[in-house]
Amino acid sequence: MHYYSTTGKSPEVTLEEAVVKGLAPDRGLYMPERIPVLPEEFFRRLPEMTLPEMAAEVAQALFGEDVEPAMLKALTEDAMNFPIPLVKVTDNIYSLELFHGPTLAFKDVGARFMARLLGYFNRENKDRLVNVLVATSGDTGSAVANGFLGVEGVRVFVLYPKGKVSPIQESQFTTLGRNIEAIEIDGTFDDCQALVKQAFLDTELNEKMMLTSANSINVARFLPQMFYYFYAVGQLMAAGADTNEIVVCVPSGNFGNITAGLIAKRMGLPVKRFIAANNANDIFFQYLKTGEYSPRPSVQTIANAMDVGDPSNFARVLDLYGHSHDAITAGISGCTYTDREIAETMKSTLEKDGYMLDPHGAVAFRALEEQLRPEETGIFLETAHPAKFKETVEGITGKEVEIPARLAEFMKGEKKSVEMAPDFTAFKQFLLSR
Ligand SMILES: *Cc1c(COP(=O)(O)O)cnc(C)c1O
Repeated sequence: MHYYSTTGKSPEVTLEEAVVKGLAPDRGLYMPERIPVLPEEFFRRLPEMTLPEMAAEVAQALFGEDVEPAMLKALTEDAMNFPIPLVKVTDNIYSLELFHGPTLAFKDVGARFMARLLGYFNRENKDRLVNVLVATSGDTGSAVANGFLGVEGVRVFVLYPKGKVSPIQESQFTTLGRNIEAIEIDGTFDDCQALVKQAFLDTELNEKMMLTSANSINVARFLPQMFYYFYAVGQLMAAGADTNEIVVCVPSGNFGNITAGLIAKRMGLPVKRFIAANNANDIFFQYLKTGEYSPRPSVQTIANAMDVGDPSNFARVLDLYGHSHDAITAGISGCTYTDREIAETMKSTLEKDGYMLDPHGAVAFRALEEQLRPEETGIFLETAHPAKFKETVEGITGKEVEIPARLAEFMKGEKKSVEMAPDFTAFKQFLLSR
């Protein structure tokens, strides 16, 4: 299968090239040239399948031409080695708990898959050194660092905004050492993202080093995220839900997660419509309302992994819908909530339904509460464990959040990071000196 650039000004590439390059040379994002539609027979079996079985079949449909089948099955099953339960919160709203992986956020899925796929491609190129650059507002850095820790032929540079990620998040990528380096930028997440983007476009840097991205611009990061959409719908089918009335709500930042869901729908997954949930960084919501896409600097919120002022996967959403605003608004609706509304939702859901939301899940849950019609069943993606935002969650709910053992382990490590101004020349010199 080939991958084309959304900008259309650079040649199509293989899966391996798309993974190793990350961003296309024309600044576009790679998309699969074909989206395979899964047979009816697959959907009949879906309610009975385990998560790894189902993921392996979806992976085969997408990547089967490019990866040796037995290896693909093994690496997919290995990446998907933790549960993703669908938990009933109200009569018609379910939480897809994506936080049972090693770093307690959904990004573990894509990061683990990408690390294994890159490891697979590197076996053929023993002296290749791939440098993964990743900008993070918290969860990407931890998932990627942990996913890639110890992978042969790969070095990871994590850029994060100083003082703007929680101490628990920070510990998950600054204490690992080995092939993982943390860079603390004196700026915002958007500054970090801009440095990474500029590095990919710098001719000299790219001649001297092989650079790739593990943000959701990388196809190996965002595509595997569709596995759990299939799984969630399968679980609802098993529970007897009407498959014509399923609505999926995704707390969105860079829009990688929801784009994976949109592609799953193209593969035949019965989802009636999607809701892209925004915090105060509501660029997409404004686009739905007005048809104008106006990126602007991000503002800090309590759902900080969604503090994105220019969502990188917007280009993929446009591409999927042929750049038609009408088509996009027919398939996706939106919402925007302030920190106060997010906090209210966390508090009331704990009191009313006995369910503890993290700030990101809360944005999506509230959208379903407000927008779901009586005949519909809603799934929201609970993208991180509440313990990752311990102080915030405790401050709002007044209830103690227990830190899972695997998270507490990270806190014991010693922090190592390099501080840097948001200045490309300095960043480039640093990379070249490694
Ligand atoms: C990354 C992240 C998001 C946003 O996901 P995108 O794919 O960037 O839209 C939402 N919630 C949490 C907890 C995250 O870590």
